[in-house]
Amino acid sequence: MSELRWNPLVGEWVATATHRQERTFLPPADFCPLCPTKPGGFPTEVPENDYDIVVFENRFPSLQSNPPVPAIEGTDLYKVRPAQGVCEVLLYTPHHAGTLTDEPVEQIYKLIRVWTDRFKELGALRFVNYVFIFENKGEAIGVTLHHPHGQIYAYPFIPPRIERELEQSLAHRARHGSCLLCDVVAEERRDGRRIVALNNSFVAFIPFYARWPYELHICSRRHLQALTDMTETEQLDLAAMLKMVLAAFDRLFNLSFPYMMVIHQRPTDGGNYDHYHFHIEFYPPLRTATKLKYLAGSETGAGLFINDTLAEEKASELRAHIAPVV
Ligand SMILES: [Zn+2]
Ligand SMILES: [Zn+2]
Ligand SMILES: [Zn+2]
Repeated sequence: MSELRWNPLVGEWVATATHRQERTFLPPADFCPLCPTKPGGFPTEVPENDYDIVVFENRFPSLQSNPPVPAIEGTDLYKVRPAQGVCEVLLYTPHHAGTLTDEPVEQIYKLIRVWTDRFKELGALRFVNYVFIFENKGEAIGVTLHHPHGQIYAYPFIPPRIERELEQSLAHRARHGSCLLCDVVAEERRDGRRIVALNNSFVAFIPFYARWPYELHICSRRHLQALTDMTETEQLDLAAMLKMVLAAFDRLFNLSFPYMMVIHQRPTDGGNYDHYHFHIEFYPPLRTATKLKYLAGSETGAGLFINDTLAEEKASELRAHIAPVV
């Protein structure tokens, strides 16, 4: 059973997905469902003996291309719609141990090309208006499978956080005649204190308005809206930038750094979004090597994040761990 239920109080959808309760939870390494099926072994999600990067539909999807009829009828106040969409799992590598950080730049570049391909293909589906590519990494984030992987949710609507960024970008352009994020990048570069890393095509910084101590944003230096707008050089530079910041994250506390990584691109509903600007956001939950930041009353109930740290200080800390990639 799954459906979308409307919250009229905040004007947002909530997805119910009760079948997800049965999903695999932290299996032992020999029973990883994301490892290639071994000869004579039990069948995993991936039948081939070996693979490079694989994408398949999530076995426990929150959204489905042929969704069930909602189990409950909507009313004027409580709108209900089928949970239509697509949920995919994206395996970065056949190797169980390790993380994206351990992959060479060439493998990360390949992953970026797969992201681009999925964005194009899922975005072209009639019922998909937004393709959301993300990774949850680490048990601190609630990850149930350790095999290095990310996910893609293709939504039937533009999710609220993106809608907010689109509105702000549009309003900024109307007021100033320029792109909001191009102006943010220019200001960060002028100031310099929050910049963590820079290459020919991308800039990584802890934004002035960071909500998490080590929140990091990667912005394209050229004004573009999606992975599909990038040149091959830009995609290679993005791979190098990801490798650089992921390695710095792991060096920070000398541990495999947990995070949520989300890719913010234009919607795929056919509208014109040339006021929007591609970026990737990381929200790591750690405040220190052993302390987590929790989303408590103010964050969850009021929407005001309390960040106990200053972006300028955290950026200089992280910058000290940046090393060129080979
Ligand atoms: Zn595995
Ligand atoms: Zn821009
Ligand atoms: Zn964003």
